[in-house]
Amino acid sequence: MSRRTPLVAANWKMHKVRQEAKAYCSDLRQRLAGVTGVEVVLFPGPTLLTTVAEGLAGSTIAWGGQDLHPEPQGAHTGDVSAAQLTDVGCSWVLCGHSERRQDHGETSELVGAKAAAARRGGLKPMVCIGETEGEREDGRTFEVLERQLAAALDAEPNPGALAYEPVWAIGTGKTATPELAQEVHEFLRQRLGKLRDPSFAEALRILYGGSVKPGNAGSLIVQEDIDGFLVGGAGLDPEPFSGIINSSCA
Ligand code: PEP
Repeated sequence: MSRRTPLVAANWKMHKVRQEAKAYCSDLRQRLAGVTGVEVVLFPGPTLLTTVAEGLAGSTIAWGGQDLHPEPQGAHTGDVSAAQLTDVGCSWVLCGHSERRQDHGETSELVGAKAAAARRGGLKPMVCIGETEGEREDGRTFEVLERQLAAALDAEPNPGALAYEPVWAIGTGKTATPELAQEVHEFLRQRLGKLRDPSFAEALRILYGGSVKPGNAGSLIVQEDIDGFLVGGAGLDPEPFSGIINSSCA
């Protein structure tokens, strides 16, 4: 079990409308009443942020954006800035989710620029990194992760959290084994120590993401370097999501 306070986040991706978001917040709040020793963050889509802000007001659950533009403002149709996210109460933002890297061609350098813009704008960037199935099969996992991590830290030495999300495990039902995930998390912490400094590496939360469910969260969270989860599918429903949260703070 890690020595850091666990952090569990739900990435709603392009799901839900306002009424569903409102019902989710009230259900999750009831389920988490009295739960302590864990930080919880929701990442709803941009049109849901004000609804979630209202639904979570007065709770300890935080929320954030799924992406941001590296510029503070300007002619960037369809994009969102750090200031627009903080304006609706966001304290976090995802940077470099693999779906952004794949669907929108985001490079590690752009992800770094986004993380830096987030920090400058008062947000905690949750930087996502992970190898594809092909990269793992070619034995390039550590090289790929090192490159993604170094580019992010180069631009923003102070990420709010790191999320290791093997691309082959996202939305596929194929979870990394606890041993495999721990091996990567330990590697990332060592690299963080070298690229930044050991005390920063010791304190930074490294989350695991990729088909996390209530049934596998317990065996992952007991690993020394796994400090919580970034959850997609199981984060869309408060019941399994709260199950994952409960397993993380037990
Ligand atoms: C994700 O999208 O970040 C994710 C981990 O998705 P899932 O839990 O559905 O694999």
